[in-house]
Amino acid sequence: MRTDVPVLIVGGGPVGLSAALFLARQGVRSLLVERRGTTSPMPRATHVTRRSMELFREAGLEPEIAAAGYAVVPAQDPRAVSDPERTLPRVVFGVESIADLHRRAEILETGVEELAVPGPSPPYWCGQDRLEPILRRAAVRAGADVRFEHELVDLDIRDAEVTARIHGRKTGRTQTCHPRYVIAADGASGRTAEAAEIPFGGLGTIASRVSILFRADLTGLIGARRFFMAMIENEKFSGAVMSLNEKHRWAAAVDQSLAGDTSPDRCVALVRSAIGDPAVDVTMDGVFRWEARHRMAMAYRAGPLFVMGDAAHVHPPSGGFGSNVGFQDAHNLAWKMAAVVKGWAGQSLLDTYDTERRPVATATAEQTLLLDGVPSERLGGATSRDQRIVIMGYRYASQAVLGAVPDVPFPETFGLHGVPGTRVPHVHIGGSSTMDALGAGFVLFSPDPRWLETAAKVELELAVPVEARHVAPTAATAFAEACGTGSHGAILVRPDGFVAWRRVARKSQTERDRYLCLTAVLKRFAAINERDSAPTQ
Ligand SMILES: Cc1cc2nc3c(=O)[nH]c(=O)nc-3n(C[C@H](O)[C@H](O)[C@H](O)COP(=O)(O)OP(=O)(O)OC[C@H]3O[C@@H](n4cnc5c(N)ncnc54)[C@H](O)[C@@H]3O)c2cc1C
Repeated sequence: MRTDVPVLIVGGGPVGLSAALFLARQGVRSLLVERRGTTSPMPRATHVTRRSMELFREAGLEPEIAAAGYAVVPAQDPRAVSDPERTLPRVVFGVESIADLHRRAEILETGVEELAVPGPSPPYWCGQDRLEPILRRAAVRAGADVRFEHELVDLDIRDAEVTARIHGRKTGRTQTCHPRYVIAADGASGRTAEAAEIPFGGLGTIASRVSILFRADLTGLIGARRFFMAMIENEKFSGAVMSLNEKHRWAAAVDQSLAGDTSPDRCVALVRSAIGDPAVDVTMDGVFRWEARHRMAMAYRAGPLFVMGDAAHVHPPSGGFGSNVGFQDAHNLAWKMAAVVKGWAGQSLLDTYDTERRPVATATAEQTLLLDGVPSERLGGATSRDQRIVIMGYRYASQAVLGAVPDVPFPETFGLHGVPGTRVPHVHIGGSSTMDALGAGFVLFSPDPRWLETAAKVELELAVPVEARHVAPTAATAFAEACGTGSHGAILVRPDGFVAWRRVARKSQTERDRYLCLTAVLKRFAAINERDSAPTQ
């Protein structure tokens, strides 16, 4: 085990594993410790949103996720019928029982708008039991030191000096390390954030639920009416049934008050009530109790400690946002940490992790609470938003965005138009898409080739990684329209795909104009004057 790493990650759930992966891809070494011996055997989070898939696609994981899960397709997509092993229609039915699907089912949700947003990947339906091993392998492949059966047993932070004690549960050895940063991704029951005296707020427990995993051949009852989720209401069952990533494998979720003692007989009886056809054989696969809770960290940073995932924000699973918000946390912090560790940005860039991510997680949690029936008055008057906004239309306003608009984090209407603080539009630039160009440094897109020279000069002078991408003349009009740059302007995109700055310029602008404004912008983002004296890696 390498203890001389700049970053220690506590927790090897989906969020900690993705943090290790994203950091490694940014060239930052990390040590991840996970108390458990294996990744989660429970499917729990299944919905991997389009935005999360953009991050995993960038990391080269789409083929593995596609093989392990289902691509989520529109309800009417013929692939939902022709390729049932690989696709799942994004439809939510309201129905009395599965047996009633062909008689009285109401369509509650089709997600058609989300699926119509231009983007490189569809969302996937891939349970945590399948996704976590993929993330674990990818993090190790990328160079992270991932240690299961290792536990953080003590963390001491004094004057920004970290002393962490890690106990190997199998080896019985306890080792000490002094990382520069600690990421607490230790989940809803984690104690690391509290140890750093980060305060928490929230409404507490909203509901206590039970998930029953079962096997049953429902093909005859469902036929072509395959679904993402069925909300079932009848005299004996009130809850949801959803498909898992295996033929004939399902999960039913109900309130604990309805489930009662959760004995195998009781669970099978409940599942039978949801199915509504006594002739169907049901085999129990597992039961787990969980609480829909609302618990939010009031700060995402305490000196060298950063919190993310369920360690920072716990909310009901309605909408399927829990781990997805955590993936965005990890992606947001990874490039910033890399910039500071490599020495091209000042420490203050790390403060923008809290400024950007906490409002998004807070607003997302409110949406899940509204979906769970919590009245708007208890949420400061929050109202339901278009799911596309929650998934990828949120906005950042911080020192790492120049010219951000004030209505953050959720705008009134969905739109990705190149506004600073929003995700760059997915648009073709000739041969590839804007999304394919993202990576370690900033990317400057422009239909005007003169920006290439400017960017190269500024990069050399400031030692801030910025790559200029010329938009091919055939794609220039569509690009300028989608990103709002005009023919001679430019858009500067951060490594996480968010627009840092946009310039609308005239043809007559001089090289000096371009040079001065790009220099000013990059100096600000990289906080060049506050840069630490020596890089640590
Ligand atoms: C029924 C259900 C359905 C859900 N559906 C969805 C969905 O569709 N989409 C979605 O996005 N989310 C969903 N969620 C939420 C999702 O499961 C969580 O948001 C997600 O697991 C959080 O991941 P995490 O890595 O932050 O935390 P966790 O998965 O809780 O991982 C934290 C890890 O830290 C480890 N740990 C704790 N302390 C230490 C220590 N001291 N040392 C070492 N290791 C430690 C723990 O062992 C644990 O493995 C659902 C949740 C439930 C219960």
